[in-house]
Amino acid sequence: MANSQDSLGNHQAGAEAAMTDSAKGIVLVLSAPTGGGKTTIAHRLVDSGSGVRFSVSHTTRSPRPGERDGVDYHFVNEAAFQAMVDRGEFLEWAQVHSHRYGTHRSELAKAAERGETLLLDIDVQGGLQVKSAVPAAVLVFVLPPSLEVLLARLAKRNEEPGFDLATRLGSALKELELASVYDYNIVNEDLDEAVGQVRLILETSRLRPSGISGRASRLSKDISHWLRSHDVHRP
Ligand code: 5GP
Repeated sequence: MANSQDSLGNHQAGAEAAMTDSAKGIVLVLSAPTGGGKTTIAHRLVDSGSGVRFSVSHTTRSPRPGERDGVDYHFVNEAAFQAMVDRGEFLEWAQVHSHRYGTHRSELAKAAERGETLLLDIDVQGGLQVKSAVPAAVLVFVLPPSLEVLLARLAKRNEEPGFDLATRLGSALKELELASVYDYNIVNEDLDEAVGQVRLILETSRLRPSGISGRASRLSKDISHWLRSHDVHRP
């Protein structure tokens, strides 16, 4: 019979591995109409150090002032983007406001390797593609609290080149039609509260059988192994 110190050590190691596994494989999608504030929520989640990794998308649009290649986006030209589409390298991709955006499959692989949750800040077309490719993905739709707040948030972006209020509101209408398909809808009135709600959704998702990466089967294996090594026969 193995000594009890060894068994305890093994159990502790098992528990630590299981904790790492608990964040593995979760794909969290945040979508919102423009002005929903999802990007701010996304950055807060990543910065809080709770095992959440930001998925850096590829895009054909040009960098805005202050944006860094490889950090905010991977900025590529049309030909490079199309080549990646042709090679099937995107988990999802979509045309949004006259530019193309896509999530490279390697983002998913990197997050899984490190046992991190992958956070995608993408539009609804992309969100739905992710759901069909990764059914366990958790889709959260972030709503602005009212038209007044949405207009006030959009007014701040009115000076950006190419920004068109009517186009943005038209897109918002289309996106809102898909809000009910998402797993969760949250209202971003108070940023701290909204971040807290997404965190809660994430924690709950980690407890789903798909989120905890087969902990039940790992425990079954551990029990069978313990029974064998202690020469105990099942009744
Ligand atoms: P922006 O150009 O303002 O950074 O982003 C425009 C829109 O494209 C936002 O709604 C953003 O969430 C979305 N977006 C960014 N990256 C991706 C992506 O990889 N895939 C999809 N489908 N949408 C994305």
